[in-house]
Amino acid sequence: PVVIQIRGMNKWYGSYHALHDIDLDVRQGERIILCGPSGSGKSTLIRCINQLEQIEQGSIHIHGADVTRQDKPAQVALRDVGMVFQHFNLFPHMTVLDNCTLAPMSVKGMSRRQAEESARERLEKVGMAHLTGQFPTQLSGGQQQRVAIARTLCMDPKIILFDEPTAALDPEMVKEVLDVMVRLANTGITMLCVTHEMGFARQMAERVLFLDQGVILEDTPPQDFFAAP
Ligand code: ADP
Ligand code: ADP
Repeated sequence: PVVIQIRGMNKWYGSYHALHDIDLDVRQGERIILCGPSGSGKSTLIRCINQLEQIEQGSIHIHGADVTRQDKPAQVALRDVGMVFQHFNLFPHMTVLDNCTLAPMSVKGMSRRQAEESARERLEKVGMAHLTGQFPTQLSGGQQQRVAIARTLCMDPKIILFDEPTAALDPEMVKEVLDVMVRLANTGITMLCVTHEMGFARQMAERVLFLDQGVILEDTPPQDFFAAP
């Protein structure tokens, strides 16, 4: 089944036309890489999907709900969408554990005990269960990003959007984050990932979208995308 359906999507920033007539179907469990030059609209595209940006034209359906309407069905559908940012976006004044339990408690109404149990489980999966009491500033970039991934997983998303998740990391920390993402990819979760890590793309992607100047120029399996010309 199609979990994200985009039709005729156009996005402007003032008079700047950032996305042109985007049509896209994402099927359940698909792993998609978005690549293309800087400024081509990759980040804008995924930010429109989870409504961090509003679109001026077109529609975005997630699990059948038009999320551009901002009504109750849209809010429910958007809860299935997790996001991982380039700069981690952890709450600096909260511990690792509190970062992970906040949304499950406030949005999902979980009890603290339940939320902590689930958080510890997810932190275990990203290799961060031993640092639950630390604050983000006490962690390396790679550790912070792994916590950010665990935090997203605590909401049990069906779809995860990644916006250059390794771009802000020192080179020696890229692998630990990509390893977590590869393991995640193998769980069958739907992933859309903006990245310049082409080795990773080759390993885990089922589709590679190439954007240029707000247009999807290519939409191909990685073996075609990476084939020698
Ligand atoms: P990419 O992720 O491919 O690097 P972006 O989606 O971040 O590209 O940006 C696409 C274009 O839109 C760029 O030219 C960028 O400068 C512009 N842009 C992005 N966000 C804004 C904004 N909030 N206001 C104005 N222009 C923006
Ligand atoms: P990131 O790659 O982490 O998204 P960016 O530098 O692309 O960081 O953008 C950081 C913020 O600035 C985003 O909210 C983006 O929408 C905004 N932004 C990007 N380009 C522009 C622009 N040309 N004018 C105004 N805001 C912009």
